[in-house]
Amino acid sequence: MLIDAHAHLNFNAFRDDFNEIIERSLAENIWMINVGTKYETSKRAVEIAEKYEKGIYAAIGLHPIYSTAGIVKIKTDPEEGNFVASREDFDSERYKELAKSEKVVAIGEIGLDYYYKPKTKRKLELFKEKQKEVFLKQLDLAKELNLPVIFHCRMAHEDLLEILKNHQVPGVIHCFTGNWEQAKQYLDMGFYLGINGIIYKLDLKEVIEKAPLEKILIETDCPYLTPPQAGVERNEPIFIKHIVQEIVKIKNLDFQKVAETTSQNAKNLFRI
Ligand SMILES: [Zn+2]
Repeated sequence: MLIDAHAHLNFNAFRDDFNEIIERSLAENIWMINVGTKYETSKRAVEIAEKYEKGIYAAIGLHPIYSTAGIVKIKTDPEEGNFVASREDFDSERYKELAKSEKVVAIGEIGLDYYYKPKTKRKLELFKEKQKEVFLKQLDLAKELNLPVIFHCRMAHEDLLEILKNHQVPGVIHCFTGNWEQAKQYLDMGFYLGINGIIYKLDLKEVIEKAPLEKILIETDCPYLTPPQAGVERNEPIFIKHIVQEIVKIKNLDFQKVAETTSQNAKNLFRI
């Protein structure tokens, strides 16, 4: 079996056929965690998971891009791609309601995203403060609910590491894009690294080579980051096999070993 630790069948890209895609995945014994990015997509991740007895789970949370959408104009919405993201405030109570579902296995994706940032110094400070404030509230929620965290981090590893030094929560650094030095710091703090199709765009060979297999989670981040071998534009959980293949090649292990260990890792972290 394989577990896609980060999918978005809760996004509009799958509105018409998420059912078929899930059936296709389950038929190949591929499980998945559908990850929320704001209230609506979190709710939808829970609704989808509730339809299935086993194998489909949900993470709920507010992606950093939405909390600062009022401070800087974000040209890409995490859900819709090329749309302007609109601001959303974090309301802990609403997420707590969602977390009553047994299918909610993590808080995420939450964290810091400094990719689109304001140009003036004052606005930049405000922007970072706001992201951190919303992030901290969600870390508190994770602790309160005793759930692991799926971290989103883009161009902000220094700040994220600084915050995590003072907040002990189990979790995964989704779509890891840092260097080995940074990877090592996360690993030393007990975090897992999420490896996905970004490996076709960035050189993560050293990180994959050196990180223990017991600390790697595999993800698709579908509908995004499609492995080129898939031959279609939209990513989906069955293409997770290509990510496994890359790890097999880099770490010089067999497929079964990588499949078994990464599945067990996801089961351990998400307690599924
Ligand atoms: Zn994602």
